[in-house]
Amino acid sequence: MKIVIIGGSHAGMMAADEILRCDPDNEVEIYDRNKVSSFAAEDISAYIRGDVDFLTDLHFDTEMVKNSQRVRIFQAHSVVGLDTKFHQLTIVNKKTSQTFVRSYDKLIIASGATNRLPLIPGVENENVLVARSYRQVEVLKEKMNSNHKITVIGAGRAGLEFALAARKINKDVQIFDKDESLAIHYVGEKVSGWLQEQMKENGISVRTQINVEEFQQQKDGQLVIKTDQENLTTNIAILAFGFVPNTVFVQNELETSLDGLICVNKYLETSAPDVYAIGDCVSVKFGNEKKVLRTRLATRALRQAFVAVHNIFGQKLSFVPMQKTSGLGVFDKWFAQTGMTLENALKNEFTANLVSYEGPWIQEYGEISSRVVVHLTYDIPSRKLLGVQIMCNRNVSQYVSIVAVMIQNENTIDDLAQADILYEQGNGMPLNFLNFVAQRAVRFEEKQGRGHPRITIE
Ligand SMILES: Cc1cc2nc3c(=O)[nH]c(=O)nc-3n(C[C@H](O)[C@H](O)[C@H](O)COP(=O)(O)OP(=O)(O)OC[C@H]3O[C@@H](n4cnc5c(N)ncnc54)[C@H](O)[C@@H]3O)c2cc1C
Repeated sequence: MKIVIIGGSHAGMMAADEILRCDPDNEVEIYDRNKVSSFAAEDISAYIRGDVDFLTDLHFDTEMVKNSQRVRIFQAHSVVGLDTKFHQLTIVNKKTSQTFVRSYDKLIIASGATNRLPLIPGVENENVLVARSYRQVEVLKEKMNSNHKITVIGAGRAGLEFALAARKINKDVQIFDKDESLAIHYVGEKVSGWLQEQMKENGISVRTQINVEEFQQQKDGQLVIKTDQENLTTNIAILAFGFVPNTVFVQNELETSLDGLICVNKYLETSAPDVYAIGDCVSVKFGNEKKVLRTRLATRALRQAFVAVHNIFGQKLSFVPMQKTSGLGVFDKWFAQTGMTLENALKNEFTANLVSYEGPWIQEYGEISSRVVVHLTYDIPSRKLLGVQIMCNRNVSQYVSIVAVMIQNENTIDDLAQADILYEQGNGMPLNFLNFVAQRAVRFEEKQGRGHPRITIE
């Protein structure tokens, strides 16, 4: 069987790897439009702040794929057309400009997402940058080395990472967002306030409810950013908003959402036979719309690769809705979250509540060395867990994974209140902060006269 993969990054590489593990006799072709495939965008900020020395180290591939005679990787090859009826792709070799047609038995689309430049006058200026592809990050790093004042526009996950990384290398950093508070869609109101405080305390200037209207390059090297509030100056501006899926070539062939994502069912099948789609370019439709959590994460791309490949080989594996588990180092503190914030839960029509816990962590036999803050969101009628956020000055990020699995298994606050979480010796508190926050939720429900505990497996 000939399996063609479009996109050789996380989703595409992992799919090729899994194909080899399932049945190494297949013929696999990977087409990637970049000169350097398997670029690991999630480590861009590590490269900016100098934790990774070489840009070439930012890659995701597997030994099995690299060493296989069965997998052929075509870099600098852009897929420009798809004919699902005849199982054919139109491909341009970007080095020679030649166009050719390739057939497939099964197709996996893993073409990801990219930044779309907004229609702001002056956006084409050489000091207005985006950082998603290998080449873009190469340029950004060069510019950062020779400039001091950096402005990040867009305070979502990527924007926060860029601002934190630039500050770490002592740049003069400001971050803008059009929303009323920082990263509100990503972390919700409570954590947004905390993030804003951390940024300000550590010398990052934060401006919210501000709209950029124009960029103007000055002769002295300054870039003027005209906004609806005032004119600000910088050396370089990094645009960290406006991601779009790379799906132009599927138009009129596959069902897509309004924003261009390829619609797939829970088996990751598209609307055309023998065509699967995975990673940042897809929107998964479940029967229950409440389960749809849109997200662009490498962790999601890799899991989807596993599911799609097994389904190509005749299984019926469902993709498990992801909880958007992610974390962020914020100067000397850590933040991690999984599932929904209270705001997201309410928007998704859950009757949700949030309880918080703040306490010591880790106590070494009475010695309090850190504090942890936990926000837990749950659905009131079913008592099911919906999300958790943890902030601490120790890296306790992995604790959110416990809740991620419990959300996946539809566990309740009553389950978490009693969950058997490892007690690390030397930590003077045998009960974990996750138990504490869930116990608060149970007590709160009792006080509201809704004390009907539900243990999932009695
Ligand atoms: C700053 C930043 C921080 C992040 N942090 C995290 C994190 O902490 N954790 C996490 O899990 N995720 C993180 N992510 C997200 C993660 O990088 C993406 O989810 C992941 O790269 C998605 O993988 P993908 O294979 O679906 O798509 P992509 O990585 O976008 O790869 C798609 C590939 O397809 C190729 N392609 C596109 N169109 C065509 C075409 N027409 N023909 C041929 N090839 C094509 C592209 O060249 C590209 O190589 C972060 C992203 C950014 C930008």
